[in-house]
Formats: sequence, C-alpha cells, structure tokens
Amino acid sequence: MNRIGKSACDQCTACTEICPRYLLGYDVQPHKVMRSLGFTTSGVDYWNKFATYCCSCGLCTLYACPEDLFPREACEQAKNSMRETGNSYRQEKEPKIHSMKNYRRVPTQSLLQRLRITKYEGPTPFVDDVPVPEDVCVLLQQHAGKPSIPVVSVGDIVNGRDLIAEPDGDSLGARIHAPLSGKVSEITAEYIRIVVDVVAETGGKTV
Ligand code: SF4
Ligand code: SF4
Repeated sequence: MNRIGKSACDQCTACTEICPRYLLGYDVQPHKVMRSLGFTTSGVDYWNKFATYCCSCGLCTLYACPEDLFPREACEQAKNSMRETGNSYRQEKEPKIHSMKNYRRVPTQSLLQRLRITKYEGPTPFVDDVPVPEDVCVLLQQHAGKPSIPVVSVGDIVNGRDLIAEPDGDSLGARIHAPLSGKVSEITAEYIRIVVDVVAETGGKTV
C-alpha cells in the first residue's frame, strides 16, 4: 500500500477536495498526508499532521482517488504514528465551511458503482407475516455473568413479554422475557422451552 502510494500518487488533490472534514473547514488534507509515504524531504511529522482531524470515513479511498490508492489508510497510519511519537497538532484558525460544501455531494448510485456493489442492491420491504415456530428454546445465558434463574415452571402458561427468568441474586445478569405466548414444556440448565400458542400468535391466520 505504501509503496504503491509512494509511486503512484500524482497529488491531484481529489481526496482532499471531497473530504467531508475538509469541507467543514478542518485542516484535513489527505493528499498532503500521502507525501509522508516517502516522496518528501520535509519529514514525515510535518505531513502527518494533516491527518489529525480525519474521522476515517473512507470516502477518499473508496470514492475519490482516481488511482485506487489509500489516502484513508495513510491518514490512519499518520494518526497512529503521531500517537506513538507523542506528536500532536491543533488547528489554530476557526473552522470555516468551504463554499463548495453543499455542492460536493456523493450520489449513492455513483458510490454503489464505484464500490462495484450495484448488483447487490434490491428492494428489501418490511415483512410483517413472519412464520411462527411451533416451539422456542429461550437461552438462560444471553449476557455476561451467570445464567438467569427460571421464575416459571413446566406447565405454566406464559404470554409474550412475560418475565420467565431473573438474575441469580446480586450476580451480573439479565431479566429474560418470553418472546411468544405458549406453555412451558421443558426447563434445563441452559434453556426454557415454550410450546407456542400458534393460534394466539397469529390470530388464527395461516402464515
Ligand atoms: S477518511 Fe479522513 S481524509 Fe479521507 S475523506 Fe474521510 S475524513 Fe477525509
Ligand atoms: S486522490 Fe489519490 S492520487 Fe490524488 S492526491 Fe489523493 S491519493 Fe493522490
């Protein structure tokens, strides 16, 4: 990445011109950070500072750079290097929003094409009629700490959202609720099984 960047970056500044932090008026200039890869005698520390206010959004690498280089990654390297060497940079002048900010937008379709993921784009409508299972096993440990302790017994009828297990005393744990209405059919150390009342859950509708 560094070798390619060092040899191929032509300092076109496209990465900086599209950078949302730069457009907001922060002194983020990834094309200058690219200079820290080696084609400068001014010193890495001097150029690294232009990464300080980078938020690592990735737009410069994923969208802007016509050479398919890695300005975002160069900025991350620069920030790490500054951290390790104890260097810091503070922008003195007040951030001033760039006059082109509202016009330098990235169309979603262009981004999809640039990322070569257009073929994965498709409608994802909300699906209301999810199949209702015949039974569910609700794990007693879905969290850090100890498994929760059942507060129901085999044969109990539970409604969806009823409490079925609680933390063990003062131990770290979580309260666990029934995801669906039904009858408790089995309790083990790991789970509570509920035979689902399919009619109650679907209102008698076939799904
Ligand atoms: S990754 Fe950093 S330098 Fe690149 S566009 Fe985002 S904020 Fe700007
Ligand atoms: S867009 Fe790419 S080629 Fe242009 S200055 Fe930035 S890193 Fe270099």
